[in-house]
Amino acid sequence: MTCCNPGLEQLSEEVEHEVQPAYRLIEEKALKNHAKVLEAFRRARVSDFHLKGSTGYGYGDQGRGALEEVYADVFRAEAALVRSQIVSGTHAIALCLYGVLRAGDELLSVQGGLYDTLGEMIGIRGEAGGSLRELGVLYNQVEPLPGGGINFAGVEKALNGRTKMVMLQRSRGYNWGPSLGTGEIREIINLIKKKKPDTVVFVDNCYGEFVEGEEPVEAGADLAAGSLIKNPGGGIAPTGGYVVGRQKFVEMAANRWSAPGIGSEVGPSAECQRLLFQGLFLAPHIVSEALKGAVFASRFFERLGFEVLPAYHEVRSDIVQAIRLGSPERMSAFCRGLQGASPVDSHIRPEPAAMPGYGDPVVMAAGTFIQGASLELSADGPVRPPYAVYLQGGLSKEYVRLAVLSAAREVMKYK
Ligand SMILES: *Cc1c(COP(=O)(O)O)cnc(C)c1O
Repeated sequence: MTCCNPGLEQLSEEVEHEVQPAYRLIEEKALKNHAKVLEAFRRARVSDFHLKGSTGYGYGDQGRGALEEVYADVFRAEAALVRSQIVSGTHAIALCLYGVLRAGDELLSVQGGLYDTLGEMIGIRGEAGGSLRELGVLYNQVEPLPGGGINFAGVEKALNGRTKMVMLQRSRGYNWGPSLGTGEIREIINLIKKKKPDTVVFVDNCYGEFVEGEEPVEAGADLAAGSLIKNPGGGIAPTGGYVVGRQKFVEMAANRWSAPGIGSEVGPSAECQRLLFQGLFLAPHIVSEALKGAVFASRFFERLGFEVLPAYHEVRSDIVQAIRLGSPERMSAFCRGLQGASPVDSHIRPEPAAMPGYGDPVVMAAGTFIQGASLELSADGPVRPPYAVYLQGGLSKEYVRLAVLSAAREVMKYK
């Protein structure tokens, strides 16, 4: 194979043509979600003065109130906590777990192991002080069926008198397995509520927002959380996280976020307010660009002979595209190629390294305007079998196409 690989350009043209029907379906969802967001803005009468920020305690910040009203509406929830002071998805998830769970309560995962960064929080990995386990919260998990589906009978058996919360993860995370659609979320919630109605069902919504026509609270979840440098920030939000759900549980998360008794009443929006509004407004469109990019990457790498998950024509419930590269060298090559095609930090060479919160070394490519913003376009993966990279995001489908081509050029040197 030559270094320039003219065959890849040709393949890229063919694939772009092949995936058009999948693009049309994505556009239909985007239209529906854009309408949902726009209506929520109008209902909350978002005004020019809402876009200015507050300082200090942030008491009576009307823009913050309007933003939370819009989020609650979009996610069909009773209440929302949307703050730039929530630093990541992991932080938003922590607010929900620490906010609701008490000593003696059991947390149940029904999809096997949780997202890598949650291991230390729960206390099943590492020895970070202050884990849920240290506070007396119990944890149990039900392994998925061999094909990756939820073991419904196993879940029914695992629910017991101590089960306070069941946690679901919409995205595939770093698992070579299926993501969880809102249809299945509804099914599993029905089963849980039938067996134990007072169970709080919490959904880690990271990477899932605006992918489907429906969000977890609509499917019956009590609480959901995510990151603003992922889908709902639209590539514009500079930082932040959100929690949505039933009033009572959102307040519990808010008490954990600030302090009991202060809850959501404080929180200066500083310079972030307009960006959080604008990002949410753009989110359905940017998510659709990212999805088109994922579809393109899926078919492109499939045609190159790699196993991909999901396939380009499959229904998606998150923006993540997994590509099984089969060796650490190809993982690094992929990330190098992708990084080299980034608008920012294109000259940086990604190498696998230990990351806080992750058990295995991680190799990642992210040449983003906002640090770590994985809706912009990033690829990463723990360096462990099956040596898969997880590609997500893309501010424009054209950018993803160029970057995927660059990644393929590097990978094919090791094929
Ligand atoms: C991104 C992500 C998180 C949180 O990660 P942060 O980097 O802390 O934002 C949690 N769960 C899933 C499935 C994710 O994709």
